[in-house]
Amino acid sequence: MSKDCLFCRIAKGEIPADIVMQNDDAVAFRDISPKAPSHILVITRKHVGSLDAADESIDLGALMRTAAEAARKEGLAEPGYRIVINTGPDAGQTVDHLHLHILGGREMKWPPG
Ligand code: AMP
Ligand code: ZN
Repeated sequence: MSKDCLFCRIAKGEIPADIVMQNDDAVAFRDISPKAPSHILVITRKHVGSLDAADESIDLGALMRTAAEAARKEGLAEPGYRIVINTGPDAGQTVDHLHLHILGGREMKWPPG
């Protein structure tokens, strides 16, 4: 927990969010500025700045499984969805707490911008 970190505060319930699901490892909630009809963020409960900083103490498998479960719950499993993890400035990472984006509800372009 980093006390000034926005996503740590959401995970602790100190800042309100539209929670889709949560478990011991991760929290899934709706992005405040959706880029697709369904846009859900999944964060680790434990603070880590980015994927690049995630060591063995971070359960990345649990993060991915939570994302798949949230996507299925959202009804995205059959039409499909995209997972994005922006890492660092070139990727446009704006919040320094590891999170993945679930984007769905429309056809995605490839390659991404
Ligand atoms: P990234 O640009 O990959 O770091 O993604 C950060 C995401 O967090 C952006 O899509 C923002 O819209 C989203 N975001 C920022 N603040 C909040 C918030 N308070 N609740 C939900 N989503 C947020
Ligand atoms: Zn944090």
